[in-house]
Amino acid sequence: MPGPEDYDLIIVGAGPSGLFCAINSMQNDKKIVIIERKNSPGHKLLISGFGRCNITHDGDTQDFLDHYGNHGRFLRPALLGFTNRDLISFFKDRGLGMVQERGGKIFPDTMQARDVLDILTLQCQELGVVIKCSQAVTSITRRGDGFFVGCVGGSYHSKLLAIATGGCSYPATGSSGDGYRFAGILGHSISEIGPALTPIFIKEYPFSELAGLSFSDMKISLYRHAKIKEYRGDILFTHDGLSGPGILDLSRYIRAEDVIKLSFVPEDRREALEEWLVERARRNGGRSLRSVLASLPNFVPAGVPLPPRLTKRLLEISGIASDLQTAQLTRKMRNRLIDNLTGLPLVVSDVCGFDLAMCTRGGVETAEVDPKTMQSRLVKGLYLVGDVLDVDGDTGGYNLQAAFSTGMLAARSIKSDFDRISG
Ligand SMILES: Cc1cc2nc3c(=O)[nH]c(=O)nc-3n(C[C@H](O)[C@H](O)[C@H](O)COP(=O)(O)OP(=O)(O)OC[C@H]3O[C@@H](n4cnc5c(N)ncnc54)[C@H](O)[C@@H]3O)c2cc1C
Repeated sequence: MPGPEDYDLIIVGAGPSGLFCAINSMQNDKKIVIIERKNSPGHKLLISGFGRCNITHDGDTQDFLDHYGNHGRFLRPALLGFTNRDLISFFKDRGLGMVQERGGKIFPDTMQARDVLDILTLQCQELGVVIKCSQAVTSITRRGDGFFVGCVGGSYHSKLLAIATGGCSYPATGSSGDGYRFAGILGHSISEIGPALTPIFIKEYPFSELAGLSFSDMKISLYRHAKIKEYRGDILFTHDGLSGPGILDLSRYIRAEDVIKLSFVPEDRREALEEWLVERARRNGGRSLRSVLASLPNFVPAGVPLPPRLTKRLLEISGIASDLQTAQLTRKMRNRLIDNLTGLPLVVSDVCGFDLAMCTRGGVETAEVDPKTMQSRLVKGLYLVGDVLDVDGDTGGYNLQAAFSTGMLAARSIKSDFDRISG
């Protein structure tokens, strides 16, 4: 039986983090191989941003750090070392310009994720990086100062190894969580993983018939006994729950049985709203409450009136007949209505699974990885990049930027490892 093929660097996973790490590690006559289980690289990259690839976001690195939950600090050296501007220049230098959408999202000017992937794979080809596709890595073992990688159809050996296997989201793209197993076998701790950037299901959901309605910049509060998070963002009613960037970004913190409170009217306007309703009852007592609520825009962010279908539903939820005359509104009813307008409680039955989650929360514990190099603090020569790390970003290009920045940081350190090993 032939022995393992020898390389200077093995990278497991041909997603953006693995490809970028390979491209930027290459020097002189080094032998680098990427092993990929799918029949071609970058399956997830191709579907990113609905196939348009929201590659990064506008803003300076300091702004970026707030978009990775509790892990912005870990990413700081990576994001400072290879910024959104550097990423844009990398592609521009290779003939792919970038455009910015309102809100700061950045896309290739062709709006094709395929063009981003083509540049990465062409670059690998030109530099002589070997990409072995349709080879799922099944085992990684450390013997002496080397790594032995076993696949169906081949085995490999190298002194340096990068795990770039992604997380668990969209497993059909190839990322089914193998990287956690490999890192675990090599001695790393894996923090609890779960779906992130995902819609949520709501118990006894009251807005099925209003699916498709969306609200911008809404305050969303998350309760588990007490309030644990507050967030502002756009939300979307779905058939069985909530979605939209505000919910997707918050989803990394959400668990079944949590309570989400939606503020259609800002909570700090509660008193003003009460005074307004009392005044309306005095002046327009004969008018139906529903028609009076149509002039609620004064209280609603951005002055956009609440859709009549929503006010009707909110009245029903509050146990108030929608044709009730405003003068008939009792104090109890008014309080219930104001409670629901300023903080409608909805109980989460679950977050959607990995099939719909764009990202994975949890992963390889960042405390065991050197943030300045992405090298394991436990195993010399082992690097961890991209989604396999316990790092997940908000929607808007933050995850791809993290994949590229961690890939680049690892590559810089790998290059000095090459010098050390050959010197
Ligand atoms: C639907 C969707 C849309 C998204 N849109 C955006 C967006 O617009 N902007 C943004 O910033 N982020 C987006 N993301 C997130 C982004 O795609 C990921 O953060 C990014 O792809 C992570 O890169 P990665 O290289 O770490 O992992 P991946 O892209 O997951 O790549 C990992 C690779 O490793 C391979 N692999 C895994 N296990 C093995 C094994 N045992 N053997 C061999 N190979 C293996 C996989 O097949 C895969 O090719 C989106 C995600 C999804 C699911």
